Amino acid sequence: MAYDGRFPIDDAVRNFLQRRPALFIDGEWTAGTGTATIDVHDPATGAVIARVPDATAEDVDRAVRSARVAFEDGRWRHLRPADRERVLLRLADAIEAHAEELAQLETLEQGKSIHLSRMIEVGASAEWSRYAAGLATKLSGRTFDVSLPGGPQHWTTYTRREPIGVVAGIAPWNFPLMIALWKVLPALASGCSIVLKPSEVTPLTALRLAEIAAGAGVPPGVFNVITGTGATAGRALVEHPAIAKISFTGSTQTGKHIARSAVERMARTTLELGGKNPAIVLRDADVDAVVNGLLLGGFLNGGQVCAAASRVYVEAPLFDALAGGLHEAMKSMRVGPGLDPQAQVNPLVSRQHQQSVLAHLDDARRHGGELLEGAAAPDERGYYVRPTLVLNPGAPMQLLREEVFGPVLSLTRVGDAEEALRLANDSRFGLAASLWTRDLGAAMRYTPRIEAGTVWVNSHVLIDPNMPFGGLKESGQGRDFGVDWLEPYTELKSVCIHH
Ligand code: NDP
Repeated sequence: MAYDGRFPIDDAVRNFLQRRPALFIDGEWTAGTGTATIDVHDPATGAVIARVPDATAEDVDRAVRSARVAFEDGRWRHLRPADRERVLLRLADAIEAHAEELAQLETLEQGKSIHLSRMIEVGASAEWSRYAAGLATKLSGRTFDVSLPGGPQHWTTYTRREPIGVVAGIAPWNFPLMIALWKVLPALASGCSIVLKPSEVTPLTALRLAEIAAGAGVPPGVFNVITGTGATAGRALVEHPAIAKISFTGSTQTGKHIARSAVERMARTTLELGGKNPAIVLRDADVDAVVNGLLLGGFLNGGQVCAAASRVYVEAPLFDALAGGLHEAMKSMRVGPGLDPQAQVNPLVSRQHQQSVLAHLDDARRHGGELLEGAAAPDERGYYVRPTLVLNPGAPMQLLREEVFGPVLSLTRVGDAEEALRLANDSRFGLAASLWTRDLGAAMRYTPRIEAGTVWVNSHVLIDPNMPFGGLKESGQGRDFGVDWLEPYTELKSVCIHH
């Protein structure tokens, strides 16, 4: 077990891969109670590069207790907000100080391009950390008058926001470091403590993050990481009676399961779930801009992006030019390992996920789909899937309705914008969408009618710490980011004083 790929990695990364499997609980590494471990694979070769503990329910209990003790004794929540802010700003600096190490680790476990790891997983994570740090000092309540006997002069009433308690953070494998931080940051900024469970497929950067956070001044017990399977460790975590809130990003199926179990205890939830995101291209759109925008919006991270463009509805006059432009670009893309700085298309995260995406493409072929393929994989061992366009998919094809989460775009020719809008909204998901047009009037008319939590005009997939993000319909509940990001990590307390 070791990394033996042909691209060099830093010594710090090699050393981290070779560590003994351990959980991060109460500010230190601990072996856990069981002996079972989980193999972590390099998606570019399939080789096992590290092992992590397969945490038991007992380990989870220990982590949650440690987080609860830390919450109760106030070592973090009773700090001045400005002091919590300062620690989170130090965390942002520490992430940047370890940027190359984290980026390589992320590419090794997840498969994505090293450029993407540097820019998004690490670069954007540092920015998100600074944004959340600033929110720590902005939590506030309101004062208000009441109509109680004696009149407002005898009563002082106000609300205050108090940290909710111990948060369970459950993260997926597509952006393991950044999405882990999207759980950790609002929890810590608001004064909560957290137990984070990364996906069993990509546990490494979350573990390293916890250690870096401890170095930045996050006290023991405030930020714990347990590795393990969703079925055992994940389930034990979300069902633990001391968990006050669950922040989950993952599939709609798992999200529903978690919501059902949370309601038993009235644990609060934020659910960022799947998408089947439409792009509507009107006849006046700039074709080159749409080609470039959809290459990014559809194929970023191999399409393993919850907000990725998936269903493209194109007004007939532009259809052939757009399909041709996309296909040409896809054929010339270089496919290869994420650590290859020249490679633009990288392996998917796991063999299991590769098989799932290929099954969608087989299903499309079986139903008579017209498939246009991009460049082929260089190495049979890696979990590659060729970027693929499916032209005018028919209703029986699963890929029209189910999330593929791979480098696959479907293009459907439509008669007019109304037809595009009707088809775009005909989905159980409502996470994100884009509209492509040079007509400002059309943009203003159609954006309110698109059923999605985020609508981009003439772009697709840009997110920002200051822009709320989340889904309608089966794409989830609640919003992350923006000035109100911390509120779901707090409870609102009303205080009513008679004097
Ligand atoms: P899953 O729902 O399978 O897993 C997500 C996380 O939940 C993993 O850490 C998983 O652990 C854990 N988990 C699985 N079962 C349980 C359970 N019963 N109780 C508690 N935790 C559990 O999703 P994927 O990891 O496959 O991620 C891909 C999905 O995530 C896609 O559908 C995508 O759309 C969605 N997603 C949504 C985003 C959004 O912001 N809306 C962003 C990114 C992804 P383990 O992996 O160890 O099984």
